[in-house]
Amino acid sequence: TAKSDLVVVYHRQPYEEVTHPDGSVELRENSSPNGIVPTIKGVMGRMKSASWVAWKHADDPDNPQFEQIIDIDDSYGSYQVNRLPLTEHEVSSFYHLTSKEAFWPILHGFKERYNYDPVDWDTFRDVNRRFAQAAADAASDDAVVWIHDYNLWLVPGYLRQLRPDVKIAFFHHTPFPASGMFNVLPWREEIIRSLLEADSIGFHIPRYAQSFVSVARSLTSARTIADQPTDPDMSPRGDALSERWTPTLMDHHGHTIHIETNPVGVNDSYVEELTARDGFHQRVQEIRDWVGDATMILSVSRTDYTKGNVEQLETFERLLVRRPELRGKVRLMLVSVGANRAVAAYDEVQQRIEELTGRINGTHGSFQWQPVSLISTAIPMDELVAYYRAADICSITPLADGLNLVAPEYCIAQGDDGAGVLILSEFAGSAVLLEGQIPVNPFSFQAMDKALDAALEMSGEERRERMRDLVRSSRRWNITAWSEATMALFRALRRGEKPEV
Ligand code: UDP
Repeated sequence: TAKSDLVVVYHRQPYEEVTHPDGSVELRENSSPNGIVPTIKGVMGRMKSASWVAWKHADDPDNPQFEQIIDIDDSYGSYQVNRLPLTEHEVSSFYHLTSKEAFWPILHGFKERYNYDPVDWDTFRDVNRRFAQAAADAASDDAVVWIHDYNLWLVPGYLRQLRPDVKIAFFHHTPFPASGMFNVLPWREEIIRSLLEADSIGFHIPRYAQSFVSVARSLTSARTIADQPTDPDMSPRGDALSERWTPTLMDHHGHTIHIETNPVGVNDSYVEELTARDGFHQRVQEIRDWVGDATMILSVSRTDYTKGNVEQLETFERLLVRRPELRGKVRLMLVSVGANRAVAAYDEVQQRIEELTGRINGTHGSFQWQPVSLISTAIPMDELVAYYRAADICSITPLADGLNLVAPEYCIAQGDDGAGVLILSEFAGSAVLLEGQIPVNPFSFQAMDKALDAALEMSGEERRERMRDLVRSSRRWNITAWSEATMALFRALRRGEKPEV
C-alpha cells in the first residue's frame, strides 16, 4: 500500500461499481442521495496524496480479488481507494443492525425505536478494528486520518494503539444527543473512550459539541479546558438547537482534544452552475406549466422516520380539510427517496407514505387535480434544481436532522431574486445557520399548520426579502467554508499546535 498524508475512513466507497455482462467493472459517480461523499471528495482534492478506506461486499472474504486498491483519477485529483472485504453477514450486523437499528434512533432521539436485540457487539468491534488496520497501513508518518460517522466510532481507539504517531480527526455527520439519550447505549463508555483518543472531534453545530462534552464528562474524567461564545453567525435566536457557548478544547489524562464546530455546507457554485446550464429555464417552465396556477409546495428527503415525511403529508391533509377553498389551488410534490429497504423501520415509513398519499389523493383529488405527487426514486441534482427553482414553498420538517443540505440548496437554486418561501424545522442543524426561514416545531400540529398558512399568505415583498437573507446565510456556510476550516484544522494538527486557551 502506498502511504498517504490524508487517509479518509468512511464506510461508503466514493464510486459505485457497475459490472457489465462481459465481466468488466466500471466505476460511476455515486448516485445515492447522500451529501457526504461529494463533500469529502472536495477536501481530498486539496491534498497532495490521499487515500480512502471503504468497505466492499465480499461473499468470500478469502478471495484476494477484493483486496483491491483502485487509483482514481478524476476532477477531484488522484487518490487510491483501499477496500475492505466484508461479508454479507458482517455488513448486515455492523451497518444495518448495530448502526441503523441501535445507534441511529438514539442519535436522533427516538428511544422507542432503539433495537438492542440484534446487535452483535463483537462483530461491530471486529469490523471497526479492520477499518483501523487498513487506515494504519495507508497512513504516512505525518498523516492525518479523517474518520467519518458513528458506524466507525471504535476506529480512533484501535488506530491509536496501532499508530500512536498519526493525527486522528473524527467528524460526526449526525446530531449528538444529550447524556439522558446517549447513555441508553450499553457500549457508551467504550465508544466515548475511543473518541477521546482522537485529536479532534467535529460536529456541525455547537449544540452537538455541547452534548458530546457533557456525555464524555458523565462517563470519564475528561474535562473541558476551553470554550468560547458561539460564533455570531450561528447566533442563538431561541431556536431549539441554539447554544450560547461552544466548547473548543477538552483534556483526557493529559491528551488534548480539539472540539470542532464546523457545519458541512452547500456546494453553492455547483448548484449555480446547474441553474446556468442550457435548458434549465425551459425545464423550470415545463414544471410550472404542469403545476398550473396552483401553489407548488416541494419537500425533498430520504425516507426515514427522522425526516418527518409522514408529518409533512398529515399537515397537507389537514390543510385541505381546514381550508377547503384551497382545493385545486395547492400541490404537494413529495420527493421521499426510499433508500435502504434492508432496514425494516424505513420500509414501514415508506408504506405509511404510500398509504397517506393514496388516501389524500383519493379523498380530495379529482381527475383534473392530484393534490400529492409522490416520487420515491432519487432525482438527479440537475433535475432537482429545476424543482427547487419552480417551487413556491419548500417545506423541510425533520424531527431531527444532523444538518440538512436540501434547505440551503433550495435557497441557492432560488437565487438572490427568488421569491420562494422556506419552512424549516427547528430541529435541523441548518436552522441555526440560516436566516429568513419560517421556523417550525414539527412536534406540534398547530405550529405546522400555522407555518404552512404563513407561507401561503406571505407577501411577495417579504418573500423576496427573506430569500435574500437565506441566500446570504447559505453562502456564508457553504462547502468552501467547511473545506477551508477542515484544511486549517489538518494543518494545526500536523504542526502539533494547540490553539490559545
Ligand atoms: N438528493 C438528490 N436527489 C433526491 C433527493 C435528495 O440528489 O431525489 C440530494 C440532496 O440534493 C442533498 C442530499 O441528497 O444534497 C441529501 O442531503 P441532506 O443533508 O439533506 O440529508 P441526508 O440524506 O444526508 O440525511
